[in-house]
Amino acid sequence: MKVPFVDLRAQHRELSSEILDCWKEILAEAAFIGGRHVDALEREFAEACGTQHCVCVNSGTDALRFIFLALDVRPGDEVITVPNTFIATAEAISQAGATPVFVDIRPDTYNMDPSKIAQAITPKTRGIVPIHLYGQPADMDPIVQIADENGLWVVEDACQAHLARYKGRRVGSIGIGAAFSFYPGKNIGACGEGGAVTTNDAALAEKVRMLRDHGQSQKYYHKIEGFNGRMDAVQAAALRIKLRHLKGWNDARIHHARRYNELLGDIDAVQLPVCAPGCESVYHLYVIQVQARDNVMRALKESGIETGLHYPIPLHMQEAYASRQIPIGSFPVTESGVRKILSLPIFPELSDKQLEYVCECLKKIVG
Ligand SMILES: *Cc1c(COP(=O)(O)O)cnc(C)c1O
Repeated sequence: MKVPFVDLRAQHRELSSEILDCWKEILAEAAFIGGRHVDALEREFAEACGTQHCVCVNSGTDALRFIFLALDVRPGDEVITVPNTFIATAEAISQAGATPVFVDIRPDTYNMDPSKIAQAITPKTRGIVPIHLYGQPADMDPIVQIADENGLWVVEDACQAHLARYKGRRVGSIGIGAAFSFYPGKNIGACGEGGAVTTNDAALAEKVRMLRDHGQSQKYYHKIEGFNGRMDAVQAAALRIKLRHLKGWNDARIHHARRYNELLGDIDAVQLPVCAPGCESVYHLYVIQVQARDNVMRALKESGIETGLHYPIPLHMQEAYASRQIPIGSFPVTESGVRKILSLPIFPELSDKQLEYVCECLKKIVG
């Protein structure tokens, strides 16, 4: 049996005629940038996240960058995040002019460890950026509390966690602003690039709107210098159709995660992902920990099973940040986790048979 890590073709087979009908209209109208589909997606995605505003942009990376710029991040400022994330989080902080300062993660949830934040705060710190990694909300209450006590903002990197919930609240509605990615492989993906900012802060939303469109509030009247970070109608139309399926797709992922938990629960050599109390993960990824991970990964591949590593090298150990000279050993939880993590196949259309096959093979390899 073959088990791919993800299979994006299945959802597109199901939705292609509906998407193509919509795209034909867009071609006939020749209205490609912004427009009614983008406006409607902004209303619909804001409603889904329980926020007052949503501003669609060209990528999750732009969403993060525009939030930081809108919050007036300046050179010399520091922004706290974790080394166990996709580089876009740190890139956006740097590209807004600030310095990403890393704090370690918790060993159980892989998310920011709130008890490590206080020691990273300096007079230059402006904000904190927790990532809802693998679809699981970060522990927001203590993070927001530390931020409030120190006059800092909290921006959520929700790029992997569309519709996940923290103590009943949707991610994306908790910090001053949040970034979502619609990269094709995310829980909801465009047929190309896409992203969104959600917020309850009208001024922040307005500033992000300007930043995505060359700083103009009215055509050719530029209040500030901005970027070309707009979403196009083709992506917005596809995303609106997919948004109606997102809850069902997330439910399927949650079902698969439960099944993995059941079938792998009795293998001592496998450490299961922990869902923290009050958190509703949407399982963008299902990440276990095993010893001799590379051997396990290879053996699974020989059995026709594709797995992934998210992420193989922590940010402070990446060549891109070598000039920061952050010593190895600075983030022991992240660094030891990286040697053991393994992302198993998870996507809505994964069949029970495929999932059972993954568990059988894993049992034979490590059990
Ligand atoms: C995907 C992702 C991003 C970047 O989103 P793009 O749409 O690819 O620019 C940022 N942060 C995290 C945690 C992500 O997973």
